[in-house]
Order: sequence, then structure tokens, then C-alpha cells
Amino acid sequence: MIARWWAALRQRRDQRSLERRAIGDELWHSTLATLPFLANRPVPDLARLRRMASLFLDRKEFSGAGGFVVDDTTALSVAVQACLPVLELGIDQYDAFVGIVMHADAVVAEREVTDEDGVVHRYDEVLAGEAMEGGPVMLSWADVLGADSTERPATAYNVVIHEFAHVLDMRDGQPDGVPLLSSAKEREAWLQVLTPEYDRFCERVVCGYETVLDAYAAESPDEFFAVASEAFFVTPQALKEEQPALYRLLASYFRQDPAAY
Ligand SMILES: [Zn+2]
Repeated sequence: MIARWWAALRQRRDQRSLERRAIGDELWHSTLATLPFLANRPVPDLARLRRMASLFLDRKEFSGAGGFVVDDTTALSVAVQACLPVLELGIDQYDAFVGIVMHADAVVAEREVTDEDGVVHRYDEVLAGEAMEGGPVMLSWADVLGADSTERPATAYNVVIHEFAHVLDMRDGQPDGVPLLSSAKEREAWLQVLTPEYDRFCERVVCGYETVLDAYAAESPDEFFAVASEAFFVTPQALKEEQPALYRLLASYFRQDPAAY
């Protein structure tokens, strides 16, 4: 009884969100035109993505930093790309945070690390985006547009999917390349695929081979998961050919098979 009552309440809440945040046809189609990796998706998938984007826009709070103005085009582009990975998992996956902070361009963050000898090293890190546990998610609009993707193959670069993959990864409390899974056994099975795929990838990067995934993925297992998620949605065929076991792992997690389109 409570479950039915709860489902009805949720339905009413979602309906109100959909009315408040209805996406006009013109804006929807112009946004899709900027995301060529969605071009061959079936119409029902796109309709569900549009619905989920409305819910996302209603539940999340966008803010512009440094005078950047977040308009409808900006917000919808982020919403659509953020919702794609959770299309089959549900938008509740993102319930742990509300804020999305948009910058016009990449952000320079001052970092500090202490080495084994206790010597402190300070350096600047250029960030296209950043996801923190509990939020907010930070994104550079120039990078969302792919304008600054000279270091990575433009076709596989997707900062929104990258940062939201980190959000999914951190749902179990740690950024380690393993998203929240239902049991310790599932986690074990995940690592049995991810770890050898990651190790092999790192070897290929060290040997200087061309790889579908950007070399940055060799940084750590959590970056490997985030970069692999970008490729999974943006250049799925290429990822499937180069790392089929990794592709299958992501396909079972996201419950999608983008290479089929
Ligand atoms: Zn990352």
C-alpha cells in the first residue's frame, strides 16, 4: 500500500517537473544537432532522454561562476549529456548532489602534494570539469562544447559524461573505478574485468601505442572508468573493437549497447 502511495506521489511530482521544465521542440532539436553521437538513437530512447532532461533541469541548480550566464542552451546541453549514462539506471543515481557550477572556460586550480621525503610540491592543474562527492559538479562550457579538445581526439572527448561517470563511481563513497554495485560479489566480478583491462591499457600507453581511450585514462582506475565511459557513449564501435571486455562490462552496467546504433 505504501509502495503504491509512494509511486503515485512520485508520479505527480514528476508530472509537475515535466510541466515546469518542458523543453520546446526548437531547443530540443538544435541541442541534439550538437551531439552527433545521439544521431542514430531510436526515437523512443530520445523521447525518454528528453523527459529525463526535464526532470534533471528541475531537480538540479545551475549557477554561473565569474559572470558566466547559464542560458537554456547551456543547461539543456549539460542535462542531456548527463542523463545519457543513467537513461536505464534512473535519474535517482544523481540524488546525492544538486549544484552544477558552470565556468566560461577551464579553471586553474592550485594543487599541493607532499612527496615521500616530506617535500611539498605546488603546481597548477587546468580543470575542464570536476566532480566532488556530495557535489557540486563543476564544468567549463568551452570544454562542454569541445572547443578546447586539442589534446584529446575530439570525437571521444566528452567532459560531461566524464564528470558524471565520476559521480556514479563515487556513489559507494570512493573514487576507485567501481560504481555502486549491489554486492561484494558483483564488485569482485567487476574488478576481475576492470583491473586486467586497465593494466593492459597502461602497458599500451607506456609502449606508445595509439589507443581509443585518451592516455589520461592511465592516471588511475577512476580516471580509466571515466574516460572509458566517454568513449563508450561517444565512440562505442571503436571501444568495442579495441577493448571488447571493457565494452561488455560497461554495457552491462549502463544497460545500454550504443555500438548497436
Ligand atoms: Zn576525471
